[in-house]
Amino acid sequence: MTQAYDIVVVGAGMVGAALATGLGQNGFSVALIDRDSAGAFDPAQSPDLRVSAISAGNERYLRQLGAWQKMATMRLTPYTRLGVWDETRHPLSNLLPARLGQTIFNATDLNTGHLGHIVENRVTQYALWQCVREQPSVDLLAGSGVSAVCQQQDQATVTLDDGRELSCQLVVGADGAQSRVREMADIGTQRDQYSQQAMVISVRYRGAVEDITWQAFHPSGPRAFLPLHSAGDAFPQESWASLVWYDSPDTLSRLKAMSKPDLLAEIQRAFPPELPPLTHIDACASFPIARQHANSYSNGRVVLVGDSAHTINPLAGQGVNLGFQDAQCLQDLLKECRRNGLNLSDSSCLQQYEQQRRPANRRMMLAMDLFYYLFSNRIPPLHLARNLGLGMAQALPFAKNRVARYAMGIEEELPAVLQLLASRLPSLPLP
Ligand SMILES: Cc1cc2nc3c(=O)[nH]c(=O)nc-3n(C[C@H](O)[C@H](O)[C@H](O)COP(=O)(O)OP(=O)(O)OC[C@H]3O[C@@H](n4cnc5c(N)ncnc54)[C@H](O)[C@@H]3O)c2cc1C
Repeated sequence: MTQAYDIVVVGAGMVGAALATGLGQNGFSVALIDRDSAGAFDPAQSPDLRVSAISAGNERYLRQLGAWQKMATMRLTPYTRLGVWDETRHPLSNLLPARLGQTIFNATDLNTGHLGHIVENRVTQYALWQCVREQPSVDLLAGSGVSAVCQQQDQATVTLDDGRELSCQLVVGADGAQSRVREMADIGTQRDQYSQQAMVISVRYRGAVEDITWQAFHPSGPRAFLPLHSAGDAFPQESWASLVWYDSPDTLSRLKAMSKPDLLAEIQRAFPPELPPLTHIDACASFPIARQHANSYSNGRVVLVGDSAHTINPLAGQGVNLGFQDAQCLQDLLKECRRNGLNLSDSSCLQQYEQQRRPANRRMMLAMDLFYYLFSNRIPPLHLARNLGLGMAQALPFAKNRVARYAMGIEEELPAVLQLLASRLPSLPLP
């Protein structure tokens, strides 16, 4: 028997689960499908290897959904300072004062309590699944993937791997970067693979929980520190952190082949002195990184959100933040569509969604490429430019704070000069 819904959301990752919760709160009947199930949270377990910096803007959104309150009872780590600097050594470096190219964004300069939070993806997803389960009009169907999406004149039919069939007005593809829904809707992508990969390492360090997240840029890629919670009674006076080491696949393969004590010593040597003393490596994994943008955000009765529509370089931790903004935008437009008595796959509604989200997502992708290009090479003028750029940013609090407010999701637009630089980028090859 075919079960009928207003909307079928495929993919209950952070973005799909957030969207399904919001739609349920607004009375839509929704089936939320995922081939996996979200693991339960256990306060004794080590942190998830995958963590995200969630902006203050999206904290508000997750609070509206009721997820933030649940995440806070599990674990999340606020940061009040964000540091960025250039670690490249070059003959020109001697002409510049040490750490001229360093910028520290501070919550107090922005009259706010914190700049954002570092949260384990498992915590965010688990909290959102709890919210989904509280919605009477949402069915969470976990443990079965989608094998077919068939679009008809008056509805779409989604077939699950176990043979169940669901009908709906609109199918949302929230099934990540390798989206099957996108493929089944015949939506192509523009994709570029970066030469760098990202290695994420879960560590414990000696000391109290830090209030700063930082990123030191090397020509081979950034090295970043993201603070997590205290290690508790089991390891007194120790805290958890997530490190990200961007480098060539060869270098990362060499690092991954090391024993944990050797890797720990190598990290301590290669990261800047700001890294607190490490005591333990829990786990590590590397991820290829790509810039990918769907050629269209919708086709007929299928629409894309989150990583299925766009993936960006994770160096400024904006991927899921953009996905949450897609979800909010789509939810608002679908409410309006229903108020106006239109079908939920109405083409003007889906076009409006794309008109609102594509430029914002593209701007962020280009801004990330601007950083990637500026910092991933040793060309002397660029070395000077980025140091002067960071030095000027530090000296010009107004501009600096606008960048921070943009990254925090409080301000919609990048400062004009960065928009201009970013708009010139497509002609630049990825180094
Ligand atoms: C190293 C690294 C660091 C990052 N750091 C940050 C950060 O600090 N901040 C940030 O904002 N972003 C960060 N990101 C990006 C962020 O992780 C992604 O943008 C985010 O996970 C995308 O969420 P999503 O829900 O769109 O997709 P996903 O998280 O990929 O979820 C997709 C879901 O769909 C399900 N699914 C897939 N196929 C099917 C199918 N056929 N049928 C049914 N279900 C299916 C999957 O099981 C999964 O649950 C980082 C990424 C990387 C690689």
